[in-house]
Amino acid sequence: MESRQKILVLATSNEGKTREIRSLLAGYPVIIKNLKDFGPLPEIEEDGRTFEENAYKKASLTARFLGLPCLADDSGLCVVALDGRPGVQSARWAGPEATDEQRCAKLLEELDQARDRRAAFECVISIAVPTGPALTYEGRCEGLITHEPRGRNGFGYDPVFFYPPTKKTFAEMTMEEKSKVSHRGRALEQIKEEFDKILIWIERHMPIFEKQGCLATPAHFSEKGE
Ligand code: IMP
Repeated sequence: MESRQKILVLATSNEGKTREIRSLLAGYPVIIKNLKDFGPLPEIEEDGRTFEENAYKKASLTARFLGLPCLADDSGLCVVALDGRPGVQSARWAGPEATDEQRCAKLLEELDQARDRRAAFECVISIAVPTGPALTYEGRCEGLITHEPRGRNGFGYDPVFFYPPTKKTFAEMTMEEKSKVSHRGRALEQIKEEFDKILIWIERHMPIFEKQGCLATPAHFSEKGE
């Protein structure tokens, strides 16, 4: 039987992210699940001012809903000439229905006259238990915003994010190449490096769930059953 301490739930329904984390943690005594393994849960609004607030909110609320340890990430693109925007709004700033192409187009439009093209992808991963404590991991990758989209791989802002050391945009790199240097890859690498310690931390911080039976014993009843 699966014991509670050995399950880690990813607070995502994204199968790509789940595959990436499962393969990274292969060999460790942990069963990786995601939200699709559970019934519908209350919607969690990502209304934090920082990646850390959003990651912690998702991880700790999901851990509480399920009574299991949870991992959640939040990430986005911070552009120097836009004072750090779109940042936590990366998924939404071009409107709720916008496509990745429209988001990239909006970014290039906003940077039309900008000579400073510096930007960084940032990622925060939070691992939380139902009682509130959490571990936080951060990854960052610096690059430049191109003048036009290049490459077909990846997602989001990958076609407009140029990574100077490889002389390619993220969309021109394979998934393996990108994972070695990306914000998410760097945060996950730290988790992999100390996953043994993380499992011990989870075990120590998980509440002990006891089956609540009926407390009344025969001694609590009078003979007449009153
Ligand atoms: P999330 O934290 O995975 O939900 O990502 C938030 C948004 O940031 C995404 O919808 C993308 O627009 C952007 N983003 C995050 N990571 C990446 C990446 O690796 N490449 C391109 N865009 C990204």
